[in-house]
Amino acid sequence: MNKTKVRTRFAPSPTGYLHVGGLRTIIYAYIFAKQNKGDFLLRIEDTDRERFIPGATEKLINILPELGFKYDEGPILKNNTLISKGKFGPYIQSQRLEIYQKYAQQLLEHNQAYYCFCSSERLDAMRQEQMKNNMPPKYDGHCRNLTAAEIKAKLDAKTPYVLRMRIPENRVIKFVDLIRGEIEFNTNDIDDQVIIKSDGFPTYHLAVVVDDHLMQISHVIRGEEWVSSTPKHLLLYEYFNWQAPQFAHQSLLLNPDHTKLSKRKGDVAVEDFLQKGYLKEALINFIATIGWTEGSGNEQEIYSITDLIKKFNISRLTKAGAIFNLEKLDWINGYYIRQMKIKELNNLCLPYLKTIKPDISIKLAEKIVTISQERLKKLSDITQNIEYFWGEKLDYPKELIIWKKSNQAQTLENLIKTEDFLINLPGLCFKNLKRLEKSVINWIKKNNYGVGDILWPMRVALSGQQNSPSPFELAWVLGKKETLKRINKAQTKLKVY
Ligand code: GLU
Repeated sequence: MNKTKVRTRFAPSPTGYLHVGGLRTIIYAYIFAKQNKGDFLLRIEDTDRERFIPGATEKLINILPELGFKYDEGPILKNNTLISKGKFGPYIQSQRLEIYQKYAQQLLEHNQAYYCFCSSERLDAMRQEQMKNNMPPKYDGHCRNLTAAEIKAKLDAKTPYVLRMRIPENRVIKFVDLIRGEIEFNTNDIDDQVIIKSDGFPTYHLAVVVDDHLMQISHVIRGEEWVSSTPKHLLLYEYFNWQAPQFAHQSLLLNPDHTKLSKRKGDVAVEDFLQKGYLKEALINFIATIGWTEGSGNEQEIYSITDLIKKFNISRLTKAGAIFNLEKLDWINGYYIRQMKIKELNNLCLPYLKTIKPDISIKLAEKIVTISQERLKKLSDITQNIEYFWGEKLDYPKELIIWKKSNQAQTLENLIKTEDFLINLPGLCFKNLKRLEKSVINWIKKNNYGVGDILWPMRVALSGQQNSPSPFELAWVLGKKETLKRINKAQTKLKVY
């Protein structure tokens, strides 16, 4: 078989959303394939019918290219119908049942698998007993050596059955993991794994081996939770006399306190991160670099996917649990946001702005985005504390306008001076933020006014807030007319004793 070409795959069981751990597998499998001029495949592992979720496969098919991971082979949607792209399809396991049956039969014929007729009641009782005796749960081999006649009688009586693979006794199975190095297991610790369930569907273990072989996968990159399954898979490769792929098991994602990453969908679904306003480039950068550095003292943290294809080395991934640090994600996301052109950023922020101001104009949105770009950690932050731009929440107490080192009369006087100055400022000045700022500052300096004496009341008059952008930014967003109107309104408040 030709395994000289690197072929990797992402093989999710569709759950209805993409887990961040799944995205990590996608990133590494994709990068590894691209680094080696190989192929990256998508295969849907949907043999667990109890967990079938309508529409989940379609969601996966859509989100991969949306995130920038175009797969070379896999299921695609054409006119709303699922079809295969590539010559090793179908790429959806529920459409490959006959293939698994064929290979399961082969194992049966070679006595590498056997019929197991144990009822679930018997298996439950067995497990209870094992637990009572502090033994690891393991099939006790009850049906391991049934005679041909016994099997025939059970089959004739239509007794439900599963097929189990026969695990040899006391053998050491070793493999070299690209991330974790040499790993070995003793077969005495491995269960006679079910390979075909009573509904005729294969289990993951049989299907994954058959498919990885038939689809000529050269490197299996997946999460650490599958390490203990690998010896079973290696035995199956041996039974079929197939060459096994290479394995790389990346460590689990952990919370900063080293507990396992939350299972709450809202905290781990890639779709939810995007919805909250994390940019896909930032999310990919963050996830790719969890537990990975370039080494040799390189502290770089920002990597595009193209950089990663050049520089990523899978063997440098940490074996220890990889910390999923949201603060770092916020920092990386803020960085990406700051690199964006205003128009582009505005397009992404508009849907969020429209949730609080459905009729917001593009012009106003662009101005708000311009003055907010520096502080945004995620796109949804754009809606924080901006209602005052359209006059809402402007009902502030008059005490707020008074600068801490000043008093009511003085503040009123300062606001009147500010108004006079701004009235005479050419309208053009209001169209250029830098120029507006410079003019006001020069005027303050020239007249020896206190900066706080002028700017504090001006800012509060414009925003009505204790904390807000600078008075220049506010005046620039609001425009000359609205700025003067608000300063005037503040004066009226101060005139009342
Ligand atoms: N279907 C498995 C999952 O959902 C794939 C494991 C593997 O990559 O072998 O994680």
